[in-house]
Amino acid sequence: MRWPRFSRPRDGAFGRAPEGADAQDPRDPAVARARMVADQLRARGIDDDDVLAAFERVERHRFVTDDDPYGDHALPVGSGQTISQPYVVAVMTDAVRPDDGWHDARMLEIGTGSGYQAAILAELGARVVSIERHEELATAARQHLADTGYADRVEVIVGDGSAGWPAEAPYRAILVTAGGPSIPEPLLDQLEPDGGRLVMPVGEREHQALTLVERRGDERSHRDLGPVVFVPLIGEHGHSAR
Ligand code: SAH
Repeated sequence: MRWPRFSRPRDGAFGRAPEGADAQDPRDPAVARARMVADQLRARGIDDDDVLAAFERVERHRFVTDDDPYGDHALPVGSGQTISQPYVVAVMTDAVRPDDGWHDARMLEIGTGSGYQAAILAELGARVVSIERHEELATAARQHLADTGYADRVEVIVGDGSAGWPAEAPYRAILVTAGGPSIPEPLLDQLEPDGGRLVMPVGEREHQALTLVERRGDERSHRDLGPVVFVPLIGEHGHSAR
């Protein structure tokens, strides 16, 4: 197995190697995770301790098969799909933090992929419904979530999630992890009216703007969190398959 070469982990609440681990051994996934959190997340401004702790705990290498599972880049997850670099997953997670805390907050994810983003939300305490249109990815994600101990907090459903999942609405947060031409109206309707948050890449097939929407009653405020590149959201309220 090839691993990135790391120098000694930096000191800091989340940049330290775990106790008992050899701080010099970059092949230890816990060391790689501590480095990822320090260098990719904390150094770029992610400062929420709960979010940082979740990224330090969830074993990304059990969701993706790659020589460099903690590297600063997107990775293939199968079926021609990709998971974003850890920083983008962290920005999306940070953006939807519920005002009243993560504990038992109901959340919807569109685009399960490997199951990693759902595991991060579950680690934070949320209960997650996650929809994936590729059955083989959903099957693999359920297995990853079971292997890492998050299966009881994440329900993976196969189908087109572009219209959401009204059966369990309203949601404290909705994360769309595939890029669409616009924010599907049914998703906005399924957000909790008192501060529910939705984050989604919106734009062309090739590049999008990461967009955060916050709902207060019938008011919706939008914020642009920066340019991103995601695989397309394919479905009734997304792009057409081609
Ligand atoms: N969040 C994932 C990565 C998502 S990649 C992770 O943590 O690994 C985007 C995923 O969205 C792909 O798996 C793709 O198949 C899925 N997808 C695209 N359009 C979809 C739709 N309409 N409904 C459900 N899933 C969709």
